[in-house]
Amino acid sequence: DGTKQAAHFVFVPLNELGHLIPAVDTALLLATHGAVCTIVGTPSMAARVRHTVDAAAAGHSGLPVRLIEFPLDYAAAGLPEGADDADRIDPAYMINFYRALALLRAPVERHLREHAPPPYPTCVVSDIFNPWASELAAGLGVPRLSFFSMSAFSVLCQHNLERFGAFAGVEDANAPVVVPGLDRKIVVTRAQAPGFLRGIPIPEWEALADYIERARAEADGVIMNTVTEMEPEYVASYAAARGMKVWTVGPVSLHHQDAATLASRGNADADAAACLRWLDGRDPGSVVYVSFGSIVQASPKQLVELGLGLEASGHPFLWVVRNAGAYDAEARAFLDGLQERVSGRGLVVRGWAPQVTVLSHPAVGGFVTHCGWNSTLEAVTAGLPVVTWPHFTDQFLNERMAVEVLGIGVSVGVTEPITFVAKEIVVRRGVVEQAVRSVMGAGEEAEERRRRARELAAKARAAVQEGGSSHANLLDLVKRFGTGAA
Ligand code: UDP
Repeated sequence: DGTKQAAHFVFVPLNELGHLIPAVDTALLLATHGAVCTIVGTPSMAARVRHTVDAAAAGHSGLPVRLIEFPLDYAAAGLPEGADDADRIDPAYMINFYRALALLRAPVERHLREHAPPPYPTCVVSDIFNPWASELAAGLGVPRLSFFSMSAFSVLCQHNLERFGAFAGVEDANAPVVVPGLDRKIVVTRAQAPGFLRGIPIPEWEALADYIERARAEADGVIMNTVTEMEPEYVASYAAARGMKVWTVGPVSLHHQDAATLASRGNADADAAACLRWLDGRDPGSVVYVSFGSIVQASPKQLVELGLGLEASGHPFLWVVRNAGAYDAEARAFLDGLQERVSGRGLVVRGWAPQVTVLSHPAVGGFVTHCGWNSTLEAVTAGLPVVTWPHFTDQFLNERMAVEVLGIGVSVGVTEPITFVAKEIVVRRGVVEQAVRSVMGAGEEAEERRRRARELAAKARAAVQEGGSSHANLLDLVKRFGTGAA
């Protein structure tokens, strides 16, 4: 039909790897199916994904994707340099982060109005923590979809807890409360599930949380990095509760080009090659992979307990220690000593691992995870059982999902988030050892978890194949948002 124009999605991701990586993967997927995609962000965000996007756009079979960066004047806005770089969960820091990203609205809108390549944008896809994108979409006169790199289960739990006022009158933040409106009994505390960005102890925060909730409620739909077949009732319930369509498109990591994405993280290539070479020499299913994602930084004490627990478990392990250079001499010496003692059986990676590739390596048999949604979904996609060790945000709900809904996890039993609590939370070596043994060991329960994990992986793979739910949803997005005026 010559009167129809191609879909042109403008992606407005959050500059935080757990949000950015899946958003870029989704843009590449939509482009694969014929949409034009423009990704906008700050220079620091662009630096993290420039390589991936440019590589996808290059050459004969290049995809119609591009990345535009907008330098911002932080000083003029009273913000510190680097305010758009979020890799910390710290309220004072985070409020500046949101302010910095909101500065993007005016220049992005101006640029797209004046220089939008044909076709003119047809849809804005914004991270849920970029509420200002609702004004961008309105300014461009196009609909807006929220992008969630979260499970339908966790967003439904949060939504129901708020909608039914489940914590009203509950003084104790650690008192157990049953999540209303679910098909099963899931118990959480307010400390574990305070609501999206609620309960952050600075005054400006409530207003920002309200703004985010408004933008979320007024979106024209949701794109979610999950698999419908993995949680059909929760996808349907969330869509019904919000009264909006939910397009599930996951697992987008199956299209992940992590080596490229992460080249900007320094010695990523060297790390990647070393990890994979080491795994090649291990027995199938024998290695437990240990990583806490892109934000969590274990305390020095926790580092030691975790390391000793892994050592005591007797299982081979590949442990990624993020930002290892930030530890003091004692902690670094501990890591050196551990590496020496377990040489052959364990590998400590200081930096960044090609996680998606590592998880799909046949030598890997389990994953100790902080339950970031990407990591959780990547574990499912690789058919791996998990040891669950949540720290904050949606991670406690993802843990419930892995352990109680999907039946693929063993918890280390952390009950309080590590953010905003004054006291230090340390999981002891014996607990780590036991959890690793039960996930990696023999026995009926362990086998059962592995069997369920493999079953889920098959569903995840089927979803992205021709005819699968995620594949069909991508096609539907391209079609639906490509029918604008000629
Ligand atoms: N990741 C990686 N290598 C690492 C650590 C993390 O590739 O060494 C990737 C991981 O595959 C996932 C993302 O970074 O896609 C982390 O996202 P997640 O939601 O799990 O956690 P967050 O970083 O947001 O806490």
